[in-house]
Amino acid sequence: MNCFNCNNKMSKKTEAYHYTESGLDNVYLETPVFRCTKCKEVIADIPVMGELHMHIAAGLIKKDSLLTGKEIRFLRKQMNLKANELADILGVTKQTVSRWENGKTEVSPYNDKLIRMICIQLLQERCDKVFKEVLKGIKNIIPVVKKRRIDITQAQMKEEVCHLP
Ligand SMILES: [Zn+2]
Repeated sequence: MNCFNCNNKMSKKTEAYHYTESGLDNVYLETPVFRCTKCKEVIADIPVMGELHMHIAAGLIKKDSLLTGKEIRFLRKQMNLKANELADILGVTKQTVSRWENGKTEVSPYNDKLIRMICIQLLQERCDKVFKEVLKGIKNIIPVVKKRRIDITQAQMKEEVCHLP
């Protein structure tokens, strides 16, 4: 690959790329990274973002210590919940959620566990949605054996059908 800036040939090395694009500062991706020796441009070969963020969420859920504020915010966004919506589910105020996310106060072990449980459930539902779509199509199967062309796009190939590891 050539550099977009200066067209210099870039070096390629698989390394632990510090993925700060997620809003988290503790996520490293093992991925091919291209570096320009001339202008220091760095390009990481990052997989499909939706899929990747599910993996990060799974990693956070499995974490062996309380979630940090940034991690809570990340999980909340993965769950497509607004701060007040998460607050309502947990029975706390929106301000409490904000204070956790801004690192002003620590989440209690109880709420930490609840957030993880809700997250597992909501992420699981996304997998269920794929399954339900498959089920919906089942009644439309015509009772004739026919050869059909199956097209799979590049994007589909990169994505797993179900995201939870
Ligand atoms: Zn360059």
